[in-house]
Amino acid sequence: MQLSAMPDIDTIVDSTPFTQTVKEDVSLDDPPIVDINTRIRDTNSGRLIPISVNYFPHRRCNYRCGFCFHTDKNSFSLPLEKAKEGLKLLADAGMEKLNISGGEPFLQAHFLGEILRYAKVNLGISTGVICNGSKVTQPWLSQYGKYLDYLGVSCDSFDEDTNILIGRTQDGKTSLQWRILIKVSEWCREHKIKFKMNTVVNAYNWEEDMGHALEEIKPDRWKVFQVLLLDGENAGKGAIRNAEPLLISREQFQVFLDRHKDYAPVAEDNDAMENSYLLLDEEMRFLNCQGGKKVPGRSIFDVGVDAAFQDAGWEPETFVERGGIFEWSKDTPLLEKPHSYEW
Ligand code: SF4
Repeated sequence: MQLSAMPDIDTIVDSTPFTQTVKEDVSLDDPPIVDINTRIRDTNSGRLIPISVNYFPHRRCNYRCGFCFHTDKNSFSLPLEKAKEGLKLLADAGMEKLNISGGEPFLQAHFLGEILRYAKVNLGISTGVICNGSKVTQPWLSQYGKYLDYLGVSCDSFDEDTNILIGRTQDGKTSLQWRILIKVSEWCREHKIKFKMNTVVNAYNWEEDMGHALEEIKPDRWKVFQVLLLDGENAGKGAIRNAEPLLISREQFQVFLDRHKDYAPVAEDNDAMENSYLLLDEEMRFLNCQGGKKVPGRSIFDVGVDAAFQDAGWEPETFVERGGIFEWSKDTPLLEKPHSYEW
């Protein structure tokens, strides 16, 4: 696939401003409507603000999901103090929420905990982690849970044969992912951390009914993605995964959503996923997903956040359209704040 031209930041800034959906019958009890443009753009300079950043501190993982789109191609990760330095630069540029995923972030449990502590205590921002659940422990949550707003665990199936087909297992053996989900969700409730579940709908699970398990686990939020091809990661030259056999149509994705409509899935098809996330790799380079592949830009350590951000290919309109701004904090009831960021 060809990489389309990187966007000029001014092109994005100059594009027609978007607004929130305005309700026709606004009551006094509704939260105030605030122009989102003032939250994602500096009102003086017009520059975009990296309000919500997804940081992949390393690429290593103990699972082998066939659709993985941040595969373990190298073992690089920044030293802890350098990573903190980078996060400070991002916070100074306006980052309000940090989501950490991977790779499996809990393979560096100490690094992860200290990053969360720094983000919460020193930077005062919202924090979240997405993981596969297999390495989460109660002692870690006791030590670091207070610095975490939400914890997400990926689960594509409650059928272990399906998980083995997908590759969501260690060494091809059953990982009892449903047991992991139940255990970690209970721990999150004990530690007052919001619990999220992520599901990638693909050729092996789109016909599954997850209703019973969802009733037991009761995630605070359930995000459902359509499997996505990314050149060089799970498709094409240089890829160490092949997600092509896992692809489904938009109609199959919709059938899965319809089957689970009572469980409030937050759905993201391929259009919503591409370019609506700000992805930061292990060297703190924004990843540009335009053109169906992830192309790293310049590192924030080399050129600063503003210049590095120009490489990101981020589409703020898509970010807002996919519901990127809403309540996330574990301390604040839903909709108490007019604007907060996806988790
Ligand atoms: S759990 Fe699966 S999707 Fe997530 S990083 Fe590991 S291999 Fe990739």
